[in-house]
Amino acid sequence: MTKRILITREIPKVGMDMLKKEGFKVDVCPGKTGDVSLSQEKLLSYLKKNSYDGIISLLTDKIDTKLIKAVPSVKIVANYAAGFNNIDLIETKKRGIVATNTPGVSSLAVAEHTIALMSALTTRIVEADLFTKKGKYKGWSPMAFIGTGLSGKTLGLIGVGSIGSEVARIAAHGFTMKILYYDVVAHEKIEKEYGAQRAATVEEVLENADIVSLHVPLLVSTYHLINAVRLKMMKKSAFLINTSRGPVVDEKALVAALKKKVIAGAALDVFEFEPKLALGLTTLDTVILTPHIASARDHVRNEMARIAAQNIIDFFNDKKPQNQVNL
Ligand code: NAD
Repeated sequence: MTKRILITREIPKVGMDMLKKEGFKVDVCPGKTGDVSLSQEKLLSYLKKNSYDGIISLLTDKIDTKLIKAVPSVKIVANYAAGFNNIDLIETKKRGIVATNTPGVSSLAVAEHTIALMSALTTRIVEADLFTKKGKYKGWSPMAFIGTGLSGKTLGLIGVGSIGSEVARIAAHGFTMKILYYDVVAHEKIEKEYGAQRAATVEEVLENADIVSLHVPLLVSTYHLINAVRLKMMKKSAFLINTSRGPVVDEKALVAALKKKVIAGAALDVFEFEPKLALGLTTLDTVILTPHIASARDHVRNEMARIAAQNIIDFFNDKKPQNQVNL
């Protein structure tokens, strides 16, 4: 019997084409770039319209217990994301529903974006751009927009898996940065190849780094990993970068710390209550914000669509999908 797949928002054509070629009936929830995420009610009503056998979900879709229980026909949730903190892994497993992700393909793009944020922040490019566009540039000044730059500085990485290790590579080889990292597991490759030093604690990284960049998954153990107490441990001249997941940082505490100049600045691609921003965040000159676009590259998005579709095709062909996350 023809299997029905719901894609919760338009993704690159390659994914839909693959599914259709394999004989799946594919529906896509309507919506454009910049639209608000689907509410739980809308997502449920789409899902209930037809007895879907599988879903390609986005990281903004909450695949929680209530939703899973309401659509018993669904057998696979193929997340179009490297992360999968939007899926209740325990409930899906309990019900024999397979959950998959699209790991690895966005790592280099996210690492490049992280480096771009670090560089822009420490050279004050965004502030200077706004100043120039507003017609305020009246002539060269020796004291204008003095920054710190990256070369020779100490980069503190928290989490050095797929993305963190790429950041380490570019920072060490491209900017001669010293790498100090904290990870729950030792990563000998980055120690050997990029001279990275493993810290014994998160605190050791915070106290010694000029720039701290976060690359951990969102887990119970990483929720608010950066909070008011830990922000105070950072150097006053240090910068914080978060391209991992919003709730890894207590955003309200970050705004307070930036206002009080506890640290020098921050760049965020992800937010605690996306797409909402903490009060006061947008008014700070010492902050650069991007709207969760670190992996937004055409080749990356195509590959994510291909992998999500392949996970579904494999599953319905009785093969184990390559990227199952709820084993
Ligand atoms: P990964 O699983 O390859 O690496 C994560 C690393 O964090 C691992 O080395 C792991 O050992 C370490 N870790 C886990 N718990 C830890 C803890 N409590 N303390 C210290 N280290 C810990 O993941 P990845 O692919 O590198 O992704 C990293 C983050 O980037 C994830 O949060 C992911 O969701 C996010 N991400 C964001 C975007 C974006 O668009 N901004 C895109 C892709 C991924």
